[in-house]
Amino acid sequence: MSYRKLIDTHTHTENSSDGHHSTMFLCEHAEFIGLRAITFTDHVEIDYYERDNYSRVAKQSYFEIAKARSAFRGKLLVCTGVELGQPMYDVATADKVVGALRYDQVIASIHNLRGMPDFMFLDYNVCDVNRVMLDYFKEMQLMVDWGNFDTLGHLTYPLRYIQGDHGIKVDLSLYAEQIDGLLQGLVEKGKALEINTSGLRQKLGETMPGEDIICRFKELGGEYITIGSDAHYAKDLAAGIPEGMAIAERCGFKAITLYQKREPIQIPIE
Ligand SMILES: [Zn+2]
Ligand SMILES: [Zn+2]
Repeated sequence: MSYRKLIDTHTHTENSSDGHHSTMFLCEHAEFIGLRAITFTDHVEIDYYERDNYSRVAKQSYFEIAKARSAFRGKLLVCTGVELGQPMYDVATADKVVGALRYDQVIASIHNLRGMPDFMFLDYNVCDVNRVMLDYFKEMQLMVDWGNFDTLGHLTYPLRYIQGDHGIKVDLSLYAEQIDGLLQGLVEKGKALEINTSGLRQKLGETMPGEDIICRFKELGGEYITIGSDAHYAKDLAAGIPEGMAIAERCGFKAITLYQKREPIQIPIE
């Protein structure tokens, strides 16, 4: 697979607890496989901001990205980003994080419900899957209404575990109203929807969200789509991006978006 000229807007360095490689090493690899641009988006989990010392982690991540940006100038466009987890659980801190550094792109994600562990750790044979999904969509809606971000991260994230790992099929048509509400909110606020391709290389076997939701976003007037591999290893950089672009194109998008200083730059799909 050739990744020449592609853009990956969701990646993690060793400044994420689940990341494995340095920013420089990842840039070397991105240049080697021919990427045009890469946005690093290390985690800042707002509900664990103090406990996990994210103030220091975020600065470390940002300055390493800035250093790599200079080192790779003319060879690879390196962009600064952050993946904000659960911003609504402490809005003041979330706003402070977003404003503290000059990010190119802010992803907003939900990895856990309030006071609960990551969706990864729930036992779906015991808990009420419908309740989990409803609570997830409710939190996502609050986050969209808040709106201090650029792109909505991996919508349908709980499916990675419920459907992918536990094999429990979730009928998303039951949540059509909630999903429409979210997509409508993104359209009204001029925000992007992320196509997260990590599910393609995991048991889930599809992007988050899937093609139906991406097409629905277009139908409702969605303009901006970002595509990210959510790579935590160099080997996964750009994985699934061509498939993500093909989905965007099938849904009628003519361009994908790269955020620069939090402004959407439209890159035509060639
Ligand atoms: Zn995430
Ligand atoms: Zn991520």
